Formats: sequence, structure tokens, C-alpha cells
Amino acid sequence: MLTDIIALEKIDAVKRLIDEAHSIAIVCHMTPDGDAMGSSLCLWHTLRAVGKSVKVVTPDLYPLQLAFLPGAEKIIVASNQPDVAASVMANADLIFCLDFNDMKRIDRLATYVESSGAQRVVVDHHLNPSIEAAVIISHPEKSSTSALVFILLQALGYDANIGLDAAICCCAGMMTDTGNFSYNSNDADLYEILARLIEKGVDKDNLYVRLFNTSSLRRLRLMAYCQLNKMYILPEHHCAVITLSRQELEEFQYQKGDTESLVNIPLSLPEIVYSIYLREDAPDYVKVSMRSKGDFSVKNLCEAYFDGGGHRNAAGGEVRGSLDDALQKVIALFPECDGVIASQNQLK
Ligand code: 5GP
Ligand code: MN
Repeated sequence: MLTDIIALEKIDAVKRLIDEAHSIAIVCHMTPDGDAMGSSLCLWHTLRAVGKSVKVVTPDLYPLQLAFLPGAEKIIVASNQPDVAASVMANADLIFCLDFNDMKRIDRLATYVESSGAQRVVVDHHLNPSIEAAVIISHPEKSSTSALVFILLQALGYDANIGLDAAICCCAGMMTDTGNFSYNSNDADLYEILARLIEKGVDKDNLYVRLFNTSSLRRLRLMAYCQLNKMYILPEHHCAVITLSRQELEEFQYQKGDTESLVNIPLSLPEIVYSIYLREDAPDYVKVSMRSKGDFSVKNLCEAYFDGGGHRNAAGGEVRGSLDDALQKVIALFPECDGVIASQNQLK
């Protein structure tokens, strides 16, 4: 039995909004990951099966590795088609905001969403949602928005409308946000949902290969290069830092998603508590990605110093400056982080 985590009045309200809507839009965060894409497409397939007119709009392009997800080709990418995205939002009477807690996470799409007269429903698992909406289904204790969407669809009575394509997308989202059920995964609901998705025909082993074990030679070489030459281990600070400059990205013909999971690798060293990856995406823009173990919160660091956020053990942000500026900012944090780690007694 799935846990009844969504209040009945919220389920009723969402049901009424869906029933009354003529045109539904689904929006997820920029640089969509497996959970953003998986939850959006799962909901998209299911609402279509219910007979609704519905469109998924992403702020920017998803990584090529996720293009295999059924329905990905129908997604409207706002950075490629701003006029289409604007008109979808303007014409929508219901907008689902999936897998983000702050309008800043959808970039320019925020203007279209905010100026639309549509009602909003938020389904998300990040802490402290700050989006105004008719219904907010926020469960930070759940490992993925995809699992939440599945629970919501069940509660709405749409189980029979969740077909194989929706099930594949949901499973992909659950797998990517738990590293194939290897973290944030001590939750019986996850396996209950997984069992139902497999009953619906999902080939989980095949999804594993596509999501976690499919690379280009370029990616393999870049990951190896980073581990050999660009991974700085600072045992005295229990920290690892990986940096990649624009020149290096160009040398390896970097494409979005090529360094996915790179930031996790140093955490396999027992003495490392947190890991930071700095990628110089533009001359004055560095993308920051962090991971940690246990109680040490990289979300707090990203919120306080990198205009970002995320989850306690997986968060991100940015530096508007050079790679060196970003590195200096990181180095300046060591004393504070050393103190936190010492007080948490993490390594005992
Ligand atoms: P990643 O390191 O894989 O890019 O992101 C890990 C998690 O951090 C994401 O699931 C997302 O919740 C959060 N995150 C990444 N970048 C940002 C950002 O720029 N702003 C905020 N608020 N969260 C971010
Ligand atoms: Mn997520």
C-alpha cells in the first residue's frame, strides 16, 4: 500500500482544476534532469490518456542522454521557441510546476508563467517552496518528484491511464534522483511504485543501461581526464574540488550532460565529506555543483554563497565571474566548513 501523503482536500482541488481545464501546461526547471523530465512526461502522457490537451515546456534544452524518453520530442523548449512557449502559457488555464520550488529556477519562462491567468499546481520535493499556487504538494522527504506524481495520479484515480510510456518516464525520474536506488532510497513507497511500474511493462534493467551506463568516447575520456588531472583532494578540509575551464571543455567537445555524476566520484573516498565541481560555462559564468555525505549540507552553502539551492546532499548554484573567482570563493569557505564538519563529528 502506498502511503497517503497527500491531503484529501488537495487531491480534490487538483481533480477539480484538471476537470475544469481546457488547456494544461507542464513546466519543469532549467537544465532539466531525469526527474524533471520524467515527472513532466509521466504527467503529460497520463493527462493525454485522460483526454486533456496538455503541453510540456522546458526553459532550455534537456541533455541528449534523455532524448530517448518517450514524448521528449514533443517538448517545447522555451529557449529555442520563445514565442511558442509564451503562447502556451498565455493560453493555459492550468499550469503544473514540477520539480522546482522557486520561479528563479525556470529562468525567462517565469515571466510567461507569472503573466498567465492560469491556476497553478506545484508538485515538488525541494525544501521551502516559494511559488504562489492554488495547490502546493511539497514533500522534501520524497526522493523524486516522479514518485510524487505517481502517488498523485493514483490518488486522482488515474491508475488505468498510466500507460507504458508514462511508466517509463516515471521510473527514469525515480532512478536518476536516487542514483538507481542507491541514495535517498530507504523508502518502501519507492519499491511499491517500482513494482507497479514493472507490472505496467517497464524494463528497468534496460532503463539502467540507458540512464547510467551509456557513454560517448568523448565523455569517457573527459571523465578520466578529470579524475587524473583535475580532481583536487584536500583531506585536511575533507573536501574535493574539480574544475573545468572553457578551454578544456572545448578540447573535449563537451556537450551538456557529459560530466553528469562526476561530482559524486570523490565521495567514494572515506575521508571526503563534500565535493565541489566548478564548470566554466562562459567567460563570466561558472556553474557550481556540490555533493555531500551525512548531515553536512551543501544546500546551505549553495544558498548562502552561490545564489543556488537544492537538497542537503546534492545542490548547485553559480558564480558570475571567472573560474579563478569561483575557486577563490570556494577556498574562502574552508574555515567555516572545517568548523561545521568538526562540530558534526561526521567522520567518527
Ligand atoms: P546538479 O549538481 O546535478 O546540477 O544539481 C543537483 C541539485 O541541485 C538539483 O537537483 C537541484 O535541486 C539543485 N540545483 C542545481 N543548480 C541549482 C541552482 O542554480 N539553483 C538552485 N536553486 N538549485 C540548483
Ligand atoms: Mn528532483
